[in-house]
Amino acid sequence: MKYISTRGGIEPISFTEAVMMGLATDGGLLLPETVPSVDLSTLESWKDMPYRELAFRVISLFCDDIPPHDLKLLINRSYDSFDHREITPVVTHGGVHILELFHGPTLAFKDVALQLLGNLFEYLLKKQGKKMNIVGATSGDTGSAAICGVRGKENIAIFILHPHGKTSPVQALQMTTVLDDNVHNIAVKGTFDDCQNMVKALFNDLRFKEEFSLGAVNSINWARVLAQVVYYFYAYFRVTKGLDEEVIFSVPTGNFGDIFAGYVARRMGLPVRRLLLATNENNILTRFVNHGDYSLGRVVPTLSPSMDIQVASNFERYLFYLFGENTKRVREAFARFAETGRMEFTEQERETVAADFLSRSVNRQETLDTISSFFQETGYLLDPHTAVGVKAALDHVEDGRPLICLATAHPAKFDEAVVTATGREPERPASLAGIEDLPTRCDIVEADIAAVRAFIQRHAL
Ligand SMILES: *Cc1c(COP(=O)(O)O)cnc(C)c1O
Repeated sequence: MKYISTRGGIEPISFTEAVMMGLATDGGLLLPETVPSVDLSTLESWKDMPYRELAFRVISLFCDDIPPHDLKLLINRSYDSFDHREITPVVTHGGVHILELFHGPTLAFKDVALQLLGNLFEYLLKKQGKKMNIVGATSGDTGSAAICGVRGKENIAIFILHPHGKTSPVQALQMTTVLDDNVHNIAVKGTFDDCQNMVKALFNDLRFKEEFSLGAVNSINWARVLAQVVYYFYAYFRVTKGLDEEVIFSVPTGNFGDIFAGYVARRMGLPVRRLLLATNENNILTRFVNHGDYSLGRVVPTLSPSMDIQVASNFERYLFYLFGENTKRVREAFARFAETGRMEFTEQERETVAADFLSRSVNRQETLDTISSFFQETGYLLDPHTAVGVKAALDHVEDGRPLICLATAHPAKFDEAVVTATGREPERPASLAGIEDLPTRCDIVEADIAAVRAFIQRHAL
């Protein structure tokens, strides 16, 4: 299996090269040259597999340059840190199925991919005799999941910038209570944008990038998407009786990584009717699906901060397929977008989009009302991100068609919104018990690129 860029500017590379490259060197995103299809008899044979075994089968189709025995061990180890035997169990409440993706160490779905990516990095670096300094910016969830994915690993150090005092207290503690020597939390006296701009500047400094072997863990890494494809299959098998049934997945969406994994599963042949793309007030993608209007707005803060994004980086992967795998068209569309802040689509493309997706934008009041009414009716607490997806799903119920809502975070992780909606403090899972009393390590620095650069220079491997 070879990998190519959505912008057509690189020679095909292998799976492990794609994992190490992250963003394609021509500025595009990496995708498999062809998406493997799975036939009915294969689906049939996967139906009752435990999660780890299924993950091995799915991932193997996209990865042919890691010995199967090693790949199996890497996958198995990645999910040992989950606190549920099924890894991603499905529960049913209030007429919808809920795919719980929050049983990993930091209580959000990002653990599913970042636990595996951390192990893949360690394995590949060791093989190649290399080291890597991961640098990233976070507004909350990605940072803690990435830190947990690489803590204590050999040949890797990680530097995560977060805006000082601007993440939720639990999110900050999930990062700063990790005391492993290779973990460096940098609290920046500034905003998330300051953090992100400084990280971008460091990556754009090619000499610095080279000298310190900078690595990235953001959701453009193909391995992250791939790890997420698995649970679409897993959930499908839990809620259907036969392979003739089509389902709808409702996906709370920010950077388009999670829902793109669902799109890949559907392209492989999983019987998915449509993907329901749920957004908060930052609804550029809903405008795209419903009106063919892809134009830049301003990011507004919401109750579901991990979805407060306007330009979704993984969206380019979908555009590649929407444009019939025409890399020239992708390049032109992005050049136009950079100039004008908008993108145009043909009538035929809009029909394709409508066959692939449904979409609904859910506002603050609807989110609170959904958390509250769902709890009253079912006794089940939704986190605000999940609530956005559940609200979108409840508005789209089709007779008899199974609806699977992705639960992307545990309610205890966003307890403020949950308390506002229900007046109840969500029960804390074991990983958060007493977290306020644990020792922390974190360096507070000015929002100044020279200070951040100096810090990394001092602590890099
Ligand atoms: C990251 C995140 C999302 C958005 O996922 P994307 O892959 O960026 O679309 C939704 N919910 C939670 C809790 C998240 O952490």
